[in-house]
Amino acid sequence: MDRNEIAARVAQVRERIEAAAGRAGRDPDQVTLIAVTKTRTAAKVEAAYLAGVRHIGENRVEEAEEKRPLLDLPGATWHMVGHLQSRKAERAAACFDILHSLDSLKLAQKLDRLLAEQNRVLPVLLEVNVSGEASKYGFVPSDSRFEADVAQIVVLPHLRVEGLMTVAFVTDAVEAVRPVFAQLRLLRDRLQRQFPEGVWAHLSMGMTDDLEVAVEEGATMVRIGRAIFGPR
Ligand SMILES: *Cc1c(COP(=O)(O)O)cnc(C)c1O
Repeated sequence: MDRNEIAARVAQVRERIEAAAGRAGRDPDQVTLIAVTKTRTAAKVEAAYLAGVRHIGENRVEEAEEKRPLLDLPGATWHMVGHLQSRKAERAAACFDILHSLDSLKLAQKLDRLLAEQNRVLPVLLEVNVSGEASKYGFVPSDSRFEADVAQIVVLPHLRVEGLMTVAFVTDAVEAVRPVFAQLRLLRDRLQRQFPEGVWAHLSMGMTDDLEVAVEEGATMVRIGRAIFGPR
């Protein structure tokens, strides 16, 4: 796929976001498009940047470490959207600007310690496993430890909790995921009241197949791979 095709596909994704925002009476500028570039070459990341994308998502530390130094993309923000193993926390903090997948108190505490040494604050989203599927990462809101964990995370001085992230289940019936996104929004509203130490502005939800539903349900960040770069 060449540069022009990637630009055309970015434009199509922006149109999808605008249409969905319009239906929900939302301002499309409140939805940040993150191009998820996992498995894609640095040249393709650059093509998305040249098409106006300023948010890059990767799901592995190694890939960001490899591509980021090859690219000079002023004003770009790099998002870690995949599961982060605790032993890679230091490397992730070095090459990402925001972590969407904070999924345990232990990881939060480790990151906070590492960031304290550098006198830095890292924006994070709490990953939530809304449907409680065993195969998924993320906090399970019905878990008895959930609120106690959140209470400890929001006061960590070197993390800034900016909201929630979820990965919906895969289905052909896209409407089936609407309750997942609606529940994430309701959970965010509740946590915002309960833990005013956090910022809670963001809902990172929606991928190639379900971005419209996510935007209608309040997504402020959509994470799009295949619609921009083609099948993996
Ligand atoms: C790959 C990935 C995406 C993008 O998925 P597409 O279906 O290609 O749009 C979004 N979020 C996460 C966490 C991913 O790993």
